[in-house]
Amino acid sequence: MPATALAPEIMAKYEPVIGLEVHVQLLTTTKAFCGCANKFGSAPNTNVCPVCLGLPGALPVLNAKAVEFATLTSLALNCQVRERSIFARKNYFYPDLPKGYQISQFDKPLSEHGWIEVPTANGGTRKIGITRIHMEEDAGKSIHDGFADSSTRTYLDLNRCGTPLVEIVSEPDIRTPDEAFEYLTRLKEILLYTAVSDCNMEEGSLRCDANVSIRPRGEQKLGTKVEVKNVNSFRFIRAALEYEIERQIEVVESGSRIVQETRLWNAGEGRTYSMRSKEQAHDYRYFPEPDLPPLIVSQEFLEARKAELPELPEARRARMIAEYELSAKDAATLTSTREFADTFEAAAKTAKSARRVANLLLSELGGRLHALGLELEQSPVSMAGVVLAADLLEDNKISSKQLKQLLDICFEKSEDFPSVYEREKPEQITDSSALEKMIDEVIAANPKQVEQYKAGKKTVAGFFVGQVMRASKGQANPALLNELVTRKLEG
Ligand code: ADP
Ligand code: ZN
Ligand code: MG
Repeated sequence: MPATALAPEIMAKYEPVIGLEVHVQLLTTTKAFCGCANKFGSAPNTNVCPVCLGLPGALPVLNAKAVEFATLTSLALNCQVRERSIFARKNYFYPDLPKGYQISQFDKPLSEHGWIEVPTANGGTRKIGITRIHMEEDAGKSIHDGFADSSTRTYLDLNRCGTPLVEIVSEPDIRTPDEAFEYLTRLKEILLYTAVSDCNMEEGSLRCDANVSIRPRGEQKLGTKVEVKNVNSFRFIRAALEYEIERQIEVVESGSRIVQETRLWNAGEGRTYSMRSKEQAHDYRYFPEPDLPPLIVSQEFLEARKAELPELPEARRARMIAEYELSAKDAATLTSTREFADTFEAAAKTAKSARRVANLLLSELGGRLHALGLELEQSPVSMAGVVLAADLLEDNKISSKQLKQLLDICFEKSEDFPSVYEREKPEQITDSSALEKMIDEVIAANPKQVEQYKAGKKTVAGFFVGQVMRASKGQANPALLNELVTRKLEG
């Protein structure tokens, strides 16, 4: 945090304005303009060739798969895809950029005018505009530490040179650090659903630069922006923005002006530092790439990508809430990844009650897996086992207490549910007179609760059901028990 925490009244005088630039590596097997493997973690400088090393005379050939992925990304983010876009050279000198320029797109990007919907604090949603999505190539990596002579040398790994990227530039529509966090979370979710990137931030597959300014509330004109780079998690981006907004307000309140600059986030210290000011900013001397023709996206190509587009997270949540009568919270969890949603839906279709499958996955099974730090794929209980358990519950063939006991055995013995159930076949009391006797005893022992029930508090019936269930060691047939308890209390 800045030196002094500002009073809320002072903070409230200003409106933060935020725009995000996100670089995403595309999951193609080869690089953007050559046949080298597009792979993270290979031995340094092994996935390289004359094209991505920028050797004289080598010519780029555009990877069609990269165009497919970039177009899919554009469609998933509601962008209008340009029929004719142009590659351009972005010139700058840096040791990890052997060509001396990056192939990018400039004034005619692949797509424009998109949006992402984010939830707002008051429970609604808001559209954040996407200015443009353009294709470009990544640079290599400078390695400043980890070697015995790192204090005097920098090493270069050029494997990343030529990795296909899309840059997704938002409008300055974001108003709070929380909203920036939501935007990024939604964006990542959409990219993962669309399967164009693994979005692994540790490996640099998704990188974000945050632009932020402040202005007096009510003012239309944008303030001078600061760009924060080098932030490698969404939580840090939120923290960096919180810091930066407060710093800027402090500067303005003290009578100074914000200078346009690039700042770096230091996670250890929780603050940003100036890296370079506008005077030191690059002039990239963009010009059209002479070695690549214009990129033409035909109507046919576009239609094919539209057909490939999966159901996106927001739409899927809405459909699943309606189709399976799920709560918004459960639907959000079940759609947290496309794979999880697919797994759930496949099981739900074969089960008697989708709701019960959802409950089992999220509570009984999910809870046990979570406690053990296991993923669903590592569960001893298969999805077929989940479906069987859900059906047994639905048919009142086992009580929830018995289910818990059976699942305990599954996890103890690392055995699937169907075989445990076959062996254990928990007993059920379906004899009305035996159950009635137990109910009578519980009723006699709890006159106060009977009073409450008679006074109209019908939910007290659940208390009696629970007491009898416990007395029966979980063996009472739940449906029969419910019915008998109600009949007794009413009688
Ligand atoms: P630059 O030319 O410095 O790259 P751009 O106009 O291309 O600036 O914008 C880059 C990003 O900064 C975009 O995401 C945009 O929404 C955001 N941005 C632009 N102006 C401002 C501002 N005054 N305050 C906050 N964000 C801004
Ligand atoms: Zn290459
Ligand atoms: Mg720009």
